[in-house]
Amino acid sequence: MAIPIRKGKELDGMRVSCGIARDILLKCAEAVEPGITTGHVDAFAAELMREADCRSAFLGYRGFPGHICISINEEVVHGIGGPRVMQFGDIVKIDVGIVKDGWVGDNAVTVPVGQISEEFQKLLFVTEESLAVGMSYARDGVMLGDLGSSIERCVVEYGFTVVREYVGHGVGRKLHEEPQVPNYGKPGERPRLREGMILAIEPMVNSGVAKTKTLGDGWTVVTADKRPSAHFEHTVLVTKDGPEILTPRPRLTQPEVFQPF
Ligand code: MG
Repeated sequence: MAIPIRKGKELDGMRVSCGIARDILLKCAEAVEPGITTGHVDAFAAELMREADCRSAFLGYRGFPGHICISINEEVVHGIGGPRVMQFGDIVKIDVGIVKDGWVGDNAVTVPVGQISEEFQKLLFVTEESLAVGMSYARDGVMLGDLGSSIERCVVEYGFTVVREYVGHGVGRKLHEEPQVPNYGKPGERPRLREGMILAIEPMVNSGVAKTKTLGDGWTVVTADKRPSAHFEHTVLVTKDGPEILTPRPRLTQPEVFQPF
């Protein structure tokens, strides 16, 4: 299947939907605090989507019951808002995808609940860093395998692992379009990126083993060893000059003390 190339008014549509997805994500991230439930954040996101006159790209997708994905600690992705209470010291992954005028914007962050351990801080930093590294390859002419392998190289340098069972994706008219965007790969591997391709790049990084499993709710993905996982995502337009991040936000983590091995 061909990878869609977007231009002109199509890009205007994507910029609008991605800007809304970013605004809602950051508001949800700010709402995170100890003592509130994941269901509360989901309901808040639903309200923000109504206000922005858009709809969730996730609600109803293959039957997914939430407006956003919200996943705590060992939960990797696809968590469903519900009665689980966020505790001081947790990390919370929030993934917001919306549809506005037929265009999909998709982005995610991992946020600390109060003060978090140094292991969690390092995990958040490395995951956000690996996203930045991967995005720097979103340039016309670059091979997708170079992008994916750069993410894994970054993660492995810090002693963590990338999830292989879930990957990033093209995004545009639909939530999942061609190509798949793995957070691993072989340098030089096809396809070749071209100006106008739009990718949701989203490293999922585990502090222990890469392997995951799915809980009995049929959705929530957890690490096989129950150790924590982090997730950061941007929707990115490939251009001749490099990435145009369609969901721009300030970086949430700073390098501070963390060094590769
Ligand atoms: Mg995505």
